[in-house]
Amino acid sequence: MIVVLLGPPGVGKGTQGVLLCEARGFTHLSTGDLLRKARREGTPLGREAQGYMDRGELVPDSVIIGMVREALAELGDGGVVFDGFPRTVAQAEALDDVLDELGRSVGRVVVLHADDEVLVKRLSGRRSCPDCGAVYNVHFNAPATEGRCDRCEGTLTQRRDDHPETVRTRLDVYRAQTEPLVAFYEDHPAPVATVEADRPVDEVQAGLLAALDG
Ligand code: ADP
Ligand code: AMP
Repeated sequence: MIVVLLGPPGVGKGTQGVLLCEARGFTHLSTGDLLRKARREGTPLGREAQGYMDRGELVPDSVIIGMVREALAELGDGGVVFDGFPRTVAQAEALDDVLDELGRSVGRVVVLHADDEVLVKRLSGRRSCPDCGAVYNVHFNAPATEGRCDRCEGTLTQRRDDHPETVRTRLDVYRAQTEPLVAFYEDHPAPVATVEADRPVDEVQAGLLAALDG
């Protein structure tokens, strides 16, 4: 099963993607995580992406599609949850082409929904562990010790693009470039479901699992 999680920044795609992979044994493929790793490692890809990411803009399609093609080639036949990809119609079309070459196709699309004020509050409170990738929230899901990762004791950081000015740009970019994908997928053979994400994490997860099984 190949699942695409669609939805604005802060809606919970990463949080739900990790849980879904634990529940179903799928692989979580987050293009944002891949780009942040490339930045940390100082690769040419990471250096090319960093300006776009810090401004809250999309990294060019050609860069992202090449990165996803490589990641998919390494994955084999197991289930995949895409988080933060595709983000443009060109990326969605390229995903179909790449999957077609591999004899696979998108199986389900789930759109997570929450209002902008919820997204802004979640993003302002998000803290991440640069060592293991765990995600926390100072308002909703605080670590046991402030500033320390519960899993690996790493020092939690705030993503640069979670500062308020950049959050506004990212929400605008989502509306202009990514939201049109909902209509794209409504015309696509993969079934599309919408799950209300302004609820506790376990309730959203239950809604997501029901959408996948429905
Ligand atoms: P996305 O990957 O869509 O940008 P994340 O999964 O990183 O979103 O979640 C954004 C922030 O909101 C994180 O700090 C996360 O801990 C928090 N969060 C995620 N889901 C919920 C929820 N259902 N209720 C409250 N906070 C949540
Ligand atoms: P995310 O972790 O999904 O919030 O992504 C963080 C940033 O990485 C985005 O604001 C973009 O700059 C970049 N990015 C991640 N995924 C993509 C994508 N599919 N297309 C273009 N840019 C992306």
